[in-house]
Amino acid sequence: MPDRDIREALGLRPVINVSGTMTSLGASIVVPEAIAAMTGILPQFVEINDLQRKVSPVIARLTGAEAGFITASCSAGISLAIAGTMTGSDLAAIERLPDTTGLKNEVILQMGHVVSYGAPVDQAIRLAGAKPVIVGQATSAYRYHIEGAINERTACAVYVVSHHVVQYGLVGLREFAEVCHSKGVPVIVDAASEYDLRIFLDEGADIVLYSGHKFLGGPTSGIVAGKKEMVRNTFLQNLGIGRGMKVGKESMLGVMAALQAWETRDHAGIRERETGYLNLWRETLDGRPGIKPVIEADPTNNPLDRLRVNIDPQEAHITAWDLADALARGAPPIIVRDHEAEHNYFYLDPCNLHPGQEKIVASRLAEELDKARASNEIIATSLAERNARRFAGLLRWPD
Ligand SMILES: *Cc1c(COP(=O)(O)O)cnc(C)c1O
Repeated sequence: MPDRDIREALGLRPVINVSGTMTSLGASIVVPEAIAAMTGILPQFVEINDLQRKVSPVIARLTGAEAGFITASCSAGISLAIAGTMTGSDLAAIERLPDTTGLKNEVILQMGHVVSYGAPVDQAIRLAGAKPVIVGQATSAYRYHIEGAINERTACAVYVVSHHVVQYGLVGLREFAEVCHSKGVPVIVDAASEYDLRIFLDEGADIVLYSGHKFLGGPTSGIVAGKKEMVRNTFLQNLGIGRGMKVGKESMLGVMAALQAWETRDHAGIRERETGYLNLWRETLDGRPGIKPVIEADPTNNPLDRLRVNIDPQEAHITAWDLADALARGAPPIIVRDHEAEHNYFYLDPCNLHPGQEKIVASRLAEELDKARASNEIIATSLAERNARRFAGLLRWPD
């Protein structure tokens, strides 16, 4: 980390991120190779489409795709890829979007995949002018649901890979792609947060989308990879709805550098360091009244473990969400992964820490738990109020 923390100069809280790669916290630690590449290109002019031409073979090499390019975000990639399946290379149709008159405009996806990654995935579909056709039920879908939904208006199908989606009872990617392809329907996979850059294309995706700013440690961006003609039709959307989703030269070069760094990254060394953090936190928490720390594998098989901190509020004298909030309020603020806090657990994610921060996390956990145990009452604020507070704050922005 630099000596002088730019956040302090701005009056921003120097948060420690143990929640994972979160857009709301600035996504991830950008790798030095990406920072150097971005710094190098920023003062120069460059022919942007040629720069994208240089990025394409790098994406192809890492993913096994025929071609690729960089856009603003994975979410942008979803809208653009869908648009490409509706317009093809028809430039007039591209300019007419989101008006889809005369075009195929239906997009199939399983109900268990209709999630929010900070915004609803079905909105990324509608943004292109397409109509989501949601098949199956929240926890069940079969091939007949997909077959029954495909018709002459079907433009494509979307498959979401994420810890957010329902993890059972749905059609897996191989079968999903097989059913769609048998009827000539292309498959677009949202793999924003997945480490494996090849598997989804191997399993039948025609286009796969990743975030550049998550595990890769690139600048905020999205990576589009897949069949050459479909990628081209997606790229051409930059003349239409893609304009508002554009990235600059610095992001294109930054992601290219992050992809190259990914090839030579010491993945085993990083895993070992993260395991050290998890063990430290587990040792800190083990044996404390009402606290049960368990190391858990990532739900979508990314090579990443997290510490699940189970809390019995009667014994610990505090709920999981109140402990999360106390850590977030403290100095320095520590943000845990708490989207399931209503079940009285949260996770500590080790993948976005600077060395040394793991010790601060351990001592702050111990401090807050000691304080809670010493309290005569059980600290248990209302969850409904907590949720209301979150939106109340947003609705007051910028105050
Ligand atoms: C993070 C995420 C997105 C959004 O990615 P951005 O690049 O931030 O737009 C989309 N889908 C899933 C499954 C995600 O995890």
